[in-house]
Amino acid sequence: MKIFRIAGLVCFLSLVACSSQKEAAAAAAQAAEPAGSSGHIEIRVKNGDSSNMESFNEIRAMRYVKEIVAFGPRPLGSANHKKVEDYIHAHLQGDLVEDDDFVVGTSEGKLPVHNIIAKYPGTRDGIIVIASHYDTNWPLRSTSYVGANDGASSSALLLEIANQLRGKTRDGYSVWLLWDDAEESMRLPWYDPEALYGVRHLAQKWQDDGTIKKMRAFLLEDMIGDADLNIDHDSNSTPWLEDMIYQSAKRLGYQSHFFGRMNTVDDDHKPFLERGVPSADLIDFEYGYNNVFWHTTDDTVDKLSPKSLQIVGEVTLETVRMLDKKP
Ligand SMILES: [Zn+2]
Repeated sequence: MKIFRIAGLVCFLSLVACSSQKEAAAAAAQAAEPAGSSGHIEIRVKNGDSSNMESFNEIRAMRYVKEIVAFGPRPLGSANHKKVEDYIHAHLQGDLVEDDDFVVGTSEGKLPVHNIIAKYPGTRDGIIVIASHYDTNWPLRSTSYVGANDGASSSALLLEIANQLRGKTRDGYSVWLLWDDAEESMRLPWYDPEALYGVRHLAQKWQDDGTIKKMRAFLLEDMIGDADLNIDHDSNSTPWLEDMIYQSAKRLGYQSHFFGRMNTVDDDHKPFLERGVPSADLIDFEYGYNNVFWHTTDDTVDKLSPKSLQIVGEVTLETVRMLDKKP
């Protein structure tokens, strides 16, 4: 993704900064209330599978991160990329899965692109899409770059969200999980015309077949595993959806990890924003001081924390529940 500017460590609203301590106390009090009043994650019980009996499982999510990273660099068209495709598919067996495959012409030649969509139906008319890219950078394909935070963390998060959605009747919108491909730019640090291939193709396809009109929200996850988690307030994202994410974080007592910094981010939400879909990017674009680990071989699992996956996973699911209830 591309960042236009970083406004430094300032709060997005002085009002929020002033009240943040009070909010923390209020959220702590709210979190202490009995289940049901604070919007906790639903408990899923499946016969004989004790690993699926709790809420968002950050240990399992972290295991997924490590397993994706273990395949090595996963640039477009590589054997490793295919292994990760198969890995994601293997986790979605029995789910309603759609593949969106196409070939894209780039300055580096023709390359295959493979979007994967898992669909979990709801009772309400409309779709919430939660997305993450899973490819790693083409220019870094011959290095040891594995994108543990950039691509693997969010893709693992979606796999764990799939565990939470599977086998339930959603009393709300349908949720589609999208592992999109070819997000990364073909040149570093960023080159607009040769990036976001997967979502640009899908947004056009969904515009043509009418899906776009049914989309109530597009929630993007990117670089969400950093142990020092500070999700940016993105000025490109839809303001009311950003507000809803912050309210979700507050309800769960996680608001200190959200929106302490304002950024303007071009990312996979762009083609959906351009088509009028309410969209938000959950991204922490300060990965190490001055973002030093971003797009380097230092983007490794030792910089990540299961707690960060849990925070973003639970806030995402809480946001979905708030969207379900939105008039
Ligand atoms: Zn990247």
